[in-house]
Amino acid sequence: PTRVRIAPSPTGDPHVGTAYIGLLNFLYARQRGGQFVLRIEDTDRARFVATSEQQIFEALKWVGLEWDEGPDVGGPYGPYRQSERTAIYREYVQKLLDNGTAYKSFETAEELEALRKSQLAAKLPPRYNGAHRELTAEQIAAYEAEGRASVIRLKVPAEGSTTFRDELRGEITFDHTNVDDQVLMKSDGFPTYHLANVVDDHLMKITDVIRAEEWISSTPKHVLLYKAFGWDVPKFWHMPLLRNIDKSKISKRKNPVSLIFYRQAGYLPEALLNFLGLMGGGMPQTSGTIEDKSKAATADMFDLAGMIERFSFAKISLGGPVFDLVKLKWLNGEYLRALTPEAFFGKMRETVFSDAFLKELVPLVQTRIETMGQVGDLTDFLFSDNVMPSAEVFVPKKRTIEETIAFAGELLAVLEATEWTVAAIEPAMKELGLAKEWSVKENFMLLRAILTGKTASPPLLESLIVFGKARSLDRVRRFVD
Ligand code: ATP
Ligand code: GLU
Repeated sequence: PTRVRIAPSPTGDPHVGTAYIGLLNFLYARQRGGQFVLRIEDTDRARFVATSEQQIFEALKWVGLEWDEGPDVGGPYGPYRQSERTAIYREYVQKLLDNGTAYKSFETAEELEALRKSQLAAKLPPRYNGAHRELTAEQIAAYEAEGRASVIRLKVPAEGSTTFRDELRGEITFDHTNVDDQVLMKSDGFPTYHLANVVDDHLMKITDVIRAEEWISSTPKHVLLYKAFGWDVPKFWHMPLLRNIDKSKISKRKNPVSLIFYRQAGYLPEALLNFLGLMGGGMPQTSGTIEDKSKAATADMFDLAGMIERFSFAKISLGGPVFDLVKLKWLNGEYLRALTPEAFFGKMRETVFSDAFLKELVPLVQTRIETMGQVGDLTDFLFSDNVMPSAEVFVPKKRTIEETIAFAGELLAVLEATEWTVAAIEPAMKELGLAKEWSVKENFMLLRAILTGKTASPPLLESLIVFGKARSLDRVRRFVD
């Protein structure tokens, strides 16, 4: 029976790429009467974000993708959260140590860093030099007696190559000279992605690995691992990445990639899912570009059932699908227009005019107005999409436009990494201001201008919180662009 999975890592906001790959896996399973599994890959403790897992669940449910097995619903091959499976990885990596396909390596972080630097200086690709591939039992015992920490690495054969089949591309070969002795188990006792992913795909009886194409270069390591364990390899499908019109990959620096953004900005989940289904060429497409609106009308509109019926994996094309926000907006508009007035009103009450959101406005406005008619004067920026301040509003007196935009870019990076509370945003902004010699006043006025388009508004930090991280960052991103 067909079994597929998505394996997101809880490292931040749920990514639109996760919904795209999730949809493809879902369609693949449903077309074949198979199972769609959700596994949480939370072994990278340095990038772990505690709220992220719950947000992944909610975002996937919001777009309408339901999984058959997963951490929350259970299933016969659990647990489905990798941090609960560390004993399994230890057991399996021991098998590799025993059969000689993996080895312990004892270099310190400083030694590895020195190696990396010398390779970079010599213009060589940074990779492990294999120094500990053939340690004797005595040498290992000596290092361990010294109390040195170790990692476990894959012993990639020194010669030859590894070939695997990609269902969309045919055979792909990687020369072993280009495959690093990948760390499988870190010194903290947590596995790396590569080990955990392969062990779990095998134990969870995954038949088809459908993931983004950025994982192709990891696949030879995975294939070597399957071999080292003596297991059959699953089928691999590497899907083209979502791209901007200029062909660059969409990424959080440049694009709104958080599913939370699309939800908060008032996109309909049906429209977003439909749009993602149109990426990659698997659906019959008649409208082509957005310029061709007359033909487009409803020909591109499919619900999930329609996509299960019509999506063809054989038709996927490898040219990067363009994640064109103009087209997504147009499609969303079609979905909005198709609603009955009552249903449309319902959407307004669920989103921009929800009680929950309106309640958050009370502390922003109550003490600052004299008539209810002024509520709108103070909060208009929270209800419109295109707020773009003019230069007179955003450039501080002693600065140039270029300087100001460059500073906003720094601000974007800082805000992105900040927890979305007043207590966290305030010091983060002040610290940046200090580092870049921007006064608190200049710094806060700039962000106020970007957020509200004006020089006066309700308190900035509270306004940012009410507007939400995803949408606030989008405003800064569009300003910087
Ligand atoms: P970004 O590239 O936006 O900075 P990231 O690569 O750090 O983000 P991850 O959290 O690693 O983001 O990605 C989440 C998931 O989305 C991964 O499974 C990744 O393969 C997938 N993904 C990331 N970017 C794209 C893209 N442009 N198209 C399709 N899938 C993507
Ligand atoms: N944890 C990986 C991710 O973040 C999984 C990649 C895969 O599907 O193998 O996407």
